[in-house]
Amino acid sequence: MTDASALRDFTQPDELSDLTLVIGGTPLHVHKQYLAEWSPVWRQMFLEECSNPQGLREILMPDKNLQEVTELLHCIYSTQKPISDSNVKFLLQLSDEFQINRVKERCEQFLITQERSLGMLVLAEKYNLRSLYKHCMEYAKTKTLEELDSSPECKKLSSKTLLQIYHDKIEMFRDYSNDLTQRDRRTMLDCETLKMEKANMLRSLQGIQKLWDTPSKRCFRHIADGAFNYSCADCNEKIYFEVRKLCGEGQHLRRYFPKSSEKKS
Ligand SMILES: [Zn+2]
Repeated sequence: MTDASALRDFTQPDELSDLTLVIGGTPLHVHKQYLAEWSPVWRQMFLEECSNPQGLREILMPDKNLQEVTELLHCIYSTQKPISDSNVKFLLQLSDEFQINRVKERCEQFLITQERSLGMLVLAEKYNLRSLYKHCMEYAKTKTLEELDSSPECKKLSSKTLLQIYHDKIEMFRDYSNDLTQRDRRTMLDCETLKMEKANMLRSLQGIQKLWDTPSKRCFRHIADGAFNYSCADCNEKIYFEVRKLCGEGQHLRRYFPKSSEKKS
């Protein structure tokens, strides 16, 4: 909250006030020159009254809310009250009506910093706030169809905006589906590679198993024996080197069996 004493009391005239806005019998004393700086609507109104010798001294605003117009004046007079949750809606409406663009921009800047909602999208569309509109459309497309259908705010949106939301949703799902297809393809390829490596490994193991039954892999003394002689150091050493050689060829297989901590990449 700003210091209330610093806010101008518009019900009291000052030496330079030359116009009163009358709302529900209450006069608000303001300055034409100042209002004209902010609003082209007011400026035009004052210019049209120039032909009148007394000039325009009073504007009746029977359809306006005293507190809301006072708040608007606080926002454009030098006190520059901040935009907040409690004033943003009617300030948007008033600044739109009187084309007070700087206040309208401040409202938009305030809303962009707030949590996004469909209600905010309604405001963005109604008052043509482009940045906010884009910001909220990104949010709207993430809502489910049920959420959109049951939202009373959605019913206030134009069919053009609704169509765009559905269009964005379809695009989002298409991207998601493409991503899944790609991931599926990668998984299939990984699976094929693993199957191939499994077959290779099996072949290596079978090769190792056959060493003991292969006479040419024994020492010269036992080359003609019917069975492997486990007590011969030379035969065992020859087998040892053969096993090492085959295992060495199979080294590359290791990367397909990573430690559990490396599994997901
Ligand atoms: Zn031997």
